[in-house]
Amino acid sequence: MRVVILGNGLAGTISGKTIRELDSAADIIICGEEKYPYYPRPNLIDFLAGLIPLEKVFAFAEGWAERQRLQIQLGVRATAIDPSGPAVEFEDGRRLTADYLVLATGACPATPPLPGLDKDGIFTIRTLEDVLELLEAIKSGPEVVILGGGLLGLELARALRMRGVERLSVVEVFNRLLPRQLDETGAGLLQTSLEKTGIKFFIGQEAAEILGEGRVTGVRLKDGQTIPAGVVIIAAGG
Ligand SMILES: Cc1cc2nc3c(=O)[nH]c(=O)nc-3n(C[C@H](O)[C@H](O)[C@H](O)COP(=O)(O)OP(=O)(O)OC[C@H]3O[C@@H](n4cnc5c(N)ncnc54)[C@H](O)[C@@H]3O)c2cc1C
Repeated sequence: MRVVILGNGLAGTISGKTIRELDSAADIIICGEEKYPYYPRPNLIDFLAGLIPLEKVFAFAEGWAERQRLQIQLGVRATAIDPSGPAVEFEDGRRLTADYLVLATGACPATPPLPGLDKDGIFTIRTLEDVLELLEAIKSGPEVVILGGGLLGLELARALRMRGVERLSVVEVFNRLLPRQLDETGAGLLQTSLEKTGIKFFIGQEAAEILGEGRVTGVRLKDGQTIPAGVVIIAAGG
């Protein structure tokens, strides 16, 4: 029996591991678009904050997949599925047939339809590659603006402060931080404690436009204020 799993995130990797536990003879192939082996995405926050080194981001030690007899193909993007096979086609033209196909391709970050999103210096954070690029971008000490005061936006803000980013703002369109998790009192307490760490908040404010020629220089809010920025991170959900 051959099982092809698309996606080497948590769902794909644990599916492969579990199938191996149930069937020692199955031919299990995990195909992932990213070039890195599986890592839990929460580790990206600790890595960004400088709390763990790169090698600690990954879930399993070298040789784990071989010991599990999982064939891992990295840097391969599936572009089509033929359910009659079933079979999967890849960007490089390869085709892989399977007895069972598992789709574990996850989600993508959402980006609001803002004018100016095509500029350099705008990030969404989902992958290790995104974090490595962000670390490169903050080396020159730019002002950072995070759009989104939800869990990811605040985790990123905290991590960036720990990395030494000094000029850091968070814009949240709702009237409080963590609008899905906290009531107004709780959100107010959280905001006060985060402000003490040096993070600036624009609450109940919506970004209208990303400013700059080629490179981002700031964010214009709907009320007309402009926040200077060399890096903008969009953390608006996925
Ligand atoms: C920074 C960060 C911190 C987080 N922290 C937490 C937390 O503390 N607690 C929590 O519960 N959740 C957290 N999450 C969310 C959690 O990481 C996700 O719920 C989880 O990653 C979902 O796993 P998944 O395997 O379904 O999808 P994903 O992790 O998205 O993995 C899917 C994989 O499939 C690959 N793929 C997609 N399309 C293709 C294709 N066509 N061909 C080949 N491969 C493809 C992708 O490249 C990706 O590697 C966090 C997310 C982020 C980004």
